[in-house]
Amino acid sequence: MSSTATATEAPAPKASSGRKPRKKRVSTPIYKFFQVKSGAVTRSRKECPRCGRGVYLAEHKDRLTCGKCGYTSYRKTK
Ligand SMILES: [Zn+2]
Repeated sequence: MSSTATATEAPAPKASSGRKPRKKRVSTPIYKFFQVKSGAVTRSRKECPRCGRGVYLAEHKDRLTCGKCGYTSYRKTK
């Protein structure tokens, strides 16, 4: 059995009508979490204790949060 299906389906672009263009929120790229100084890598972000490696916490004014599992760690206020 040979199925020669001609896949010519192109996803039709949805026309946005009557909607104002919103400011796109861009998440910080992962490579910005690292800084290489003379061969040594320093991490500027904390890793999530729940998710482990590769998942970094988002920095807020008074807390650090994980966007994956929802972990929140409050900063010590002086
Ligand atoms: Zn997490």
